Amino acid sequence: MNENRTDPVFDLVIIGGGVNGCGIARDAAGRGLHVLLCEQGDLAQATSSASTKLFHGGLRYLEFYEFRLVRKALIEREVLLRAMPHISWPLRFVLPHHKGLRPAWLLRLGLFIYDHLGGRKILPPTRTLDLTTDPAGAPLRDGFRKGFEYSDCWVEDSRLVVLNARDAAARGAEVLTRTRCEAAVRRDGLWQVELRDVETGAARTVQARGLVNAGGPWVDDVIRNRVREDTPDRIRLVRGSHIVTRRLFDHDRPYIFQQSDGRIVFAIPYETDFTLIGTTECDHDGDPGVAVCTPDEIAYLCGAASEYFKAPVAEEDVVWSYSGVRPLYDDGATSATQATRDYVLKVVDRDRAAPLLNVFGGKITTYRRLAEAALAKLATYYPEMDGPWTAGAPLPGGDFPVDGFEALVGRLRSKYPFLDDKFARRLVRAYGTEAGEVLGDASGLGDLGRCFGWNLTEREVGWLMTREWARSAADVLWRRTKLGLRLSEAERDALDAWMRGQAATDSGEAAKRASG
Ligand SMILES: Cc1cc2nc3c(=O)[nH]c(=O)nc-3n(C[C@H](O)[C@H](O)[C@H](O)COP(=O)(O)OP(=O)(O)OC[C@H]3O[C@@H](n4cnc5c(N)ncnc54)[C@H](O)[C@@H]3O)c2cc1C
Repeated sequence: MNENRTDPVFDLVIIGGGVNGCGIARDAAGRGLHVLLCEQGDLAQATSSASTKLFHGGLRYLEFYEFRLVRKALIEREVLLRAMPHISWPLRFVLPHHKGLRPAWLLRLGLFIYDHLGGRKILPPTRTLDLTTDPAGAPLRDGFRKGFEYSDCWVEDSRLVVLNARDAAARGAEVLTRTRCEAAVRRDGLWQVELRDVETGAARTVQARGLVNAGGPWVDDVIRNRVREDTPDRIRLVRGSHIVTRRLFDHDRPYIFQQSDGRIVFAIPYETDFTLIGTTECDHDGDPGVAVCTPDEIAYLCGAASEYFKAPVAEEDVVWSYSGVRPLYDDGATSATQATRDYVLKVVDRDRAAPLLNVFGGKITTYRRLAEAALAKLATYYPEMDGPWTAGAPLPGGDFPVDGFEALVGRLRSKYPFLDDKFARRLVRAYGTEAGEVLGDASGLGDLGRCFGWNLTEREVGWLMTREWARSAADVLWRRTKLGLRLSEAERDALDAWMRGQAATDSGEAAKRASG
C-alpha cells in the first residue's frame, strides 16, 4: 500500500470480509456504488467459516416464537440454492423421536409449520420414518423406533464468502485482505478511513461517503475503538464448536438429535469420508479471534452423539474440531440459546451525511436479505443507487440448474478425461461452471503441475492465489477447500512454502515492473 496515494472518494467502505461484509459489497457494487472492502485476515477467516454450514430456517427457533426470522430464512433457502447449486445442495434431515424428550405430536406439528411457513418449490416435505426398517435407523440405538425426515440445505460457507467477494470485485469493488481498518473519522461530510496492511505495515487513508461496520464479533470493537462512536447497542458473543470424526454411518442423510438440556446437535455427512457433529453454545469472553473447542465441549458433543448412535463416539475419534463466535444482538435474553439470531441494522450519521451502518447478528442463510436491508437503510444517502438485483443472480460458477450437478460433472470429465470421478466432483462442487477455467488447456494430469497431496495441484492453487485472494496454506486447505483433512503435516508445510515462494516471486516482479 502506498502511503501517499490519492484515492478517489469511495461511495462505501465496508469493514469485514465475512459473509455479511462480502454480501453487502457485492450487492452495493452491483447497484453502481464504488466500494472498498477491507478484511484484517483472510476472507471468511472468522465466524463465516465456522458455521454448521446450513441454509436453514432453524427448526428450534420456532420454540422461541421467532416465526418472522424462520419464515424469512425458509423462503431464502430456495433463492440461494438456485443461485449457487455448486456450493449448496438439499439435504434430508432425520429427527429421531426420543421417548424422554419432546412428544412425537409436537415434533410433527413443528415440522408441519416448518414445511408451510416459507413456501417450498424445490425441497420435498416432511415424512414419517419407521426407524426399525429405514436404513437411517440402522446406526441408531435400539430404542429409536420412530422418526421424521425433513428438508434443509447445505452450503460451503467459506466458499460462499469468497464467491461474493469475487462477484463484488467483478462489479468494480476493491477487495483488500490482510488489511485492517485502524480508525475512521468524519471530516467535511466524508469518512477518512485509515487502513493498514497487517503483513507489511503499509498504511493508506481513503475517503468514503459511507461506512459499513460488518465486523461480526468485532462489531463492538469497531464502534468503540476504530470509529469511537457511542451507541447503546450491545452484542453477545456466543461460541459454538464442532467436531469432525471419521464417517459414522453409511447413508447421506444428516441427523438432528434432541438433547435433554433442550438443545439440538447435528451429525452430518461431511467431505465424503467424515461426520460433522455440532454445535455447542457458550457465552464467549475475551478475544473473538481466539475461539477453540474446549475439552468440555468435545466431551459434550461426543456424549450428545453417543446418546443416539449404537457405537459410542469417543474423544479419540475426533480428527478435527473448529469453533466460531456468533455476534448476536444482545436483546437481554437469559440464555445464549435463547438470544435472537435475527439481524439488527443501525445507522448513525452526522447532519444527514457520512452514515455509519452497524451490522449486528445474522445468519449465513439471511446474508443476502441482510445486504438488501442494509442498502435500503442507506438508500437516502445514495439517491443515484440502483434497486435490488441479487435475487435470481447466480454467484460465479453457479449458472446451472439446481439438478444439473451430475450433468456438469459428466461434461467436465468428457472434456478432461484424465480426471477421476472424485477429482471431477470436488472441482465442480468448488468451482461449478468455472471448473474448466481452473483446468485451462490441460490435456493430462501432468499439465496441472505439482501435486501437493490428495488431488490439489499447482494449477488450482495458482487460481486460488490469483482469483480468490489465497495467501497461505490455511487459506487453501481450511477455507477455499477442506483438503486440510486429507493432507499430512509435511504436505501442508510444503504447500505453504511453495505459496510463500510464489508470492515473493510475484511481488519481486511487480517491483521490477514498477521501477522500470
Ligand atoms: C457455531 C456456529 C454455527 C452456525 N451455523 C449456522 C448455520 O448453520 N446457518 C446459518 O445460517 N448461520 C449459522 N451461523 C451464523 C453465521 O455463521 C454468522 O451469523 C455469520 O457467519 C456472521 O458473519 P459476519 O460477516 O457478520 O461475521 P464474520 O464472519 O466474523 O466476519 C467479520 C469479519 O470482520 C473482520 N474484521 C473485524 N474487525 C476488522 C477491522 N477493524 N478491519 C478489518 N476487518 C475486520 C474479521 O476479521 C472478520 O473476518 C453459525 C454461527 C456459529 C458460530
